[in-house]
Amino acid sequence: MSFIKFIGTAGARFVVMRQLRASGGAWLSVGKINLYIDPGPGALVRCLHSKPKLDPSTLDGILLTHKHLDHSGDVNVMIEAMTEGGFKKRGILFAPRDALDEDPVVLKYLRDYLEKIEILEENKEYRIGEIPFSTARRHRHRVETYGINFKISPRTVSIITDTRFFPELPELYGGEILIIHVVRLKPVGDDPIDHLSIEDVKTIIRKAKPKLAVLTHFGMTMIKAKPWVVAAELETELGVKVIAASDGLTLNLEEVLK
Ligand SMILES: [Zn+2]
Repeated sequence: MSFIKFIGTAGARFVVMRQLRASGGAWLSVGKINLYIDPGPGALVRCLHSKPKLDPSTLDGILLTHKHLDHSGDVNVMIEAMTEGGFKKRGILFAPRDALDEDPVVLKYLRDYLEKIEILEENKEYRIGEIPFSTARRHRHRVETYGINFKISPRTVSIITDTRFFPELPELYGGEILIIHVVRLKPVGDDPIDHLSIEDVKTIIRKAKPKLAVLTHFGMTMIKAKPWVVAAELETELGVKVIAASDGLTLNLEEVLK
């Protein structure tokens, strides 16, 4: 079964710090390939406690969309788990250069445990086993940040990770399943908060026209508004299937759009 499992759905500082939702990103499994996306704080524990258990030593790679703590807090321990404490040199780490160079979030002594490190850059094609994927243009976020388009058969999946809205954003992510990190319920004008709001999500869904939109990475205003209620309202308003991820939600990529 090919699936994406939302290990955690917390976004931004307060929801992560108080663990109102789990943090920890998502596990993508396609055929025999397992890729962990954005192992935030708690990723290791949540994997091991997940039902059925997800064993990090079966990972083939780890991808950081950017280095902020809610996306990278457990990257080091996940590298150690993937490589069985460094005894098995394996796995690929995909990360923007600034996650590795300047104020790095990946410890240097662990880097040798990896089979390879691939630097994420704008508009580039990558592959892990049978999963081809690409970046689009750099997001508007305070650190180097990239969303991802996975060319997965049977279902293409796009992830719009943290960013401030920009006009070209919707057309960059054409996946049938569109995962959107929506931290805020309402826009915050010119405040220096580089995150999407529900208003931005409406614009994105109208233009990108996914078959299914999945909201995740919720900040406090979204949690208070009950993400499942917001998703249901969006679905009615836009005529597109919209769901709100919950901690542990698994989307079976073969079944979800049948
Ligand atoms: Zn974030």
